[in-house]
Amino acid sequence: MTTHAIPYESQLTPETLAFLRRLPGRLLIGGQWIASVAGRTFTTYEPSTGQPLAEVYQAEAEDVDRAVAAARAALEGPWRRITPLERERLLHRLADLIEQRAQELAEIETLDNGKPLSASKAIDVPSTVDMFRYFAGWPTKIEGAVKPVSIPNRLNYTLREPVGVVGAIIPWNFPLSLISWKLGPALAAGNTVVLKPAEQTPLSAIRFCELVCEAGFPDGVVNLAQGPGEITGAALVAHPGVDKIAFTGSTEVGRLIMKAAAGNLKRLSLELGGKSPHIIFADANVSQAARAAAGAIFGNAGQSCNAGSRLLVQRPAYEQALEIITRRAEAIRVGPGMDARSEMGPLTSAEHYQRVTGYIRSGVEQGAAVRVGAARPAGVPEGGYFVSPTVFDQVRDDMAIVREEIFGPVLAAMPFDTPEEAARLANATPYGLAAGVWTRDVATAHRMAGLLQAGTVWVNCYSQFDPASPFGGYKQSGFGREMGHEALEHYLETKSVWVATS
Ligand code: NDP
Repeated sequence: MTTHAIPYESQLTPETLAFLRRLPGRLLIGGQWIASVAGRTFTTYEPSTGQPLAEVYQAEAEDVDRAVAAARAALEGPWRRITPLERERLLHRLADLIEQRAQELAEIETLDNGKPLSASKAIDVPSTVDMFRYFAGWPTKIEGAVKPVSIPNRLNYTLREPVGVVGAIIPWNFPLSLISWKLGPALAAGNTVVLKPAEQTPLSAIRFCELVCEAGFPDGVVNLAQGPGEITGAALVAHPGVDKIAFTGSTEVGRLIMKAAAGNLKRLSLELGGKSPHIIFADANVSQAARAAAGAIFGNAGQSCNAGSRLLVQRPAYEQALEIITRRAEAIRVGPGMDARSEMGPLTSAEHYQRVTGYIRSGVEQGAAVRVGAARPAGVPEGGYFVSPTVFDQVRDDMAIVREEIFGPVLAAMPFDTPEEAARLANATPYGLAAGVWTRDVATAHRMAGLLQAGTVWVNCYSQFDPASPFGGYKQSGFGREMGHEALEHYLETKSVWVATS
């Protein structure tokens, strides 16, 4: 088995080094860490150098079959007998273990995904802990109801039951925390899971699953099947033994999943792409709004489903806002995630680097004006997938950079005059994930919140997430909600029980 040189070795904790030396990453099936049946592996790459990082066993259809069977056996066996209080304890124990392993998980995430270590430590790991703690509170609060039926001598009540075996398909932009978005509610509701991380970033999922075992979850409650979407993911989606697919990723793959899941009418929740508008009215605190707008597109190198990728500024404030964002873009330190000075890391994969730089080229070719960026940042390691924070101005509605999700640090800015025009421009997209509005006028704020076709509207703030608040898409940004009790509903069935009382 090939082993690769460990990048940034001298900066890593002994625990991270021990984890990397335990690789190739195995599959977790029915509580056993095993190689795939065919023994094939795939390679994951370190994004700041483009060098191979690790080998991971690839789950084929036969491995997925075994993972689904293990999940079913756990569902019908030990997991069913576990009390709600014990489920709560297990979820809390898992959250505690993730918290204890924060440094190690953050290092693994940064090596695999490329994001700055400071971000992995401040955002990805703590938000994962919070999500499991939030959902740990739910098992003892999932209640049915007694229904006031009008048929004499009949008692009618509802039971809430788990949907069954859940296939959780995760992307590469927030690999660890998006696991918690799916597995938090899935496990709280009493389901079992087959987890498929993205092939670009499987490592934190492997370490996470080791912690699931350490926390004491019964064998088979969480199974791990790594591999490419078109092989491992497709096998999971088509599998007749899977009751629900919980997916985050592109709208294109969301569409494929809907078709492929039709065989046994799987339940679906799809959190898909976005082209979120960030709207600044002239009466806003423009400098605060512009700084937030920069954070909304350059955070996580723009690889966020809710990235504020279209900036709409009311004409009198347009130049001022653009100037502030441009200065911020110039100042951002782009570099390797393991370099403590880096504020923005590389993109996560070579393929994605090609996609994002292709969009930047198309913007230039279609006649948009480059305010800043559109070039490789200076002083970054060769071979890394680095892109400069980029701002386009003088854009038109028909340009690809305005219409399509780029998923990189690329902003398209345009002016508007009236609130109606802002709402029309903001809604002129097939997506509807999120939107930001900046104004000091409370009436404008509420009016815009009503007009915008988006699952989340942030007013005088952006990118606020909390485990209690639902998040998800309108239109082609998907359906179903993550977080809050709304998420839990997607992992529960309702059974209506009738009893003749005489
Ligand atoms: P995908 O939608 O392909 O990937 C998301 C997940 O789906 C990955 O685990 C992937 O596996 C899996 N997958 C891919 N094809 C299938 C399939 N046929 N059946 C089941 N699972 C599948 O995103 P990409 O990585 O290709 O990124 C493309 C674009 O998607 C980005 O540029 C961005 O616009 C958008 N995106 C949006 C995200 C969001 O948060 N909403 C997250 C990621 C991407 P694998 O990667 O191993 O092939």
